[in-house]
Amino acid sequence: MDAGEALRRYLQTRRSLGEPEVVFPALDRRAARRMTRRLVIGGVLAPVREAEAGQGGGRAAPSAASAAPEPAAASEKAPAAGSDPGAGEPAAEASPSLSEDEIGRLAREGTGEEIRQVPDLASLRRVVEACERCPLHRARTREVFGEGDPHARVVCVGEAPGAREDETGRPFVGPAGQLLDRLLLSVGFRREEVYICNVLKSRPPNNRDPQPDEIEACSPYLHRQLELIDPDVVVAFGAFAARTLLDATGSLGSLRGKVHRYRGYPLVATYHPAALLRNRSWTRPTWEDLQRVRAIVDGERAEGESGIQAGQQMGLI
Ligand code: URA
Repeated sequence: MDAGEALRRYLQTRRSLGEPEVVFPALDRRAARRMTRRLVIGGVLAPVREAEAGQGGGRAAPSAASAAPEPAAASEKAPAAGSDPGAGEPAAEASPSLSEDEIGRLAREGTGEEIRQVPDLASLRRVVEACERCPLHRARTREVFGEGDPHARVVCVGEAPGAREDETGRPFVGPAGQLLDRLLLSVGFRREEVYICNVLKSRPPNNRDPQPDEIEACSPYLHRQLELIDPDVVVAFGAFAARTLLDATGSLGSLRGKVHRYRGYPLVATYHPAALLRNRSWTRPTWEDLQRVRAIVDGERAEGESGIQAGQQMGLI
């Protein structure tokens, strides 16, 4: 019996003894969520929630489905179908909870602090759609908020939209994006199961480097996006993303090769896929960085235990 099955049976037993939820006293919410994630996705458990004040530990409630299979109850408790990595479609965001007036106000004159209080991803997306906080909004065709599983364990952060992204409103869909998809796949992540976004949500003219005032105006969106998604690990692709998130200076070469902390989240910095298109010799170090990401998601299992076959998977890139 594998560990997941053992946990499922244990929780079922607790439920059959009449306990509506289980507290994991030694685990914080993220660790409890990581441990139970597959069961949540399978509809066996309701999502882990925060412990009440004064009581440590993440809590998981066995869903009705774990006691007696009742399809209606199970689907109420299970997250949106698309968040199942097996389902092939990204999970849907909920509807915005902010009013259109408030969204408009924040887009025109919201402070960074106010943006950090936006309550949900769908409202944040609406604020970005209407955003006028820096001059880049005038020239953009579409803003590019980000896409993927809103409960993703991995968030990939790039620099800024390029021409194709500006046309489509989707991140990383040009040549660099196609390489990003292959890089992710080489360590076992499908695009739909991660979340992909950028530091800037609007394209800089002619793909020039982001300017400090643009980063300052746009980065509250990124910080709030990351808080709301609450991933297990953040991957910064390229120096702009790494420096912005780590509030660091220095080359990407000096920032990659280790696991940093960004507001408590593990952060792995690696080469931008567009840089890899220019310099193929960076492919191997990038893949090694992504294996660190894989190991974090797999619960820090040692290299070689992750199930990734080195030679085979590098061949995908
Ligand atoms: N480069 C980026 O940094 N982001 C994109 O979305 C596309 C290219």
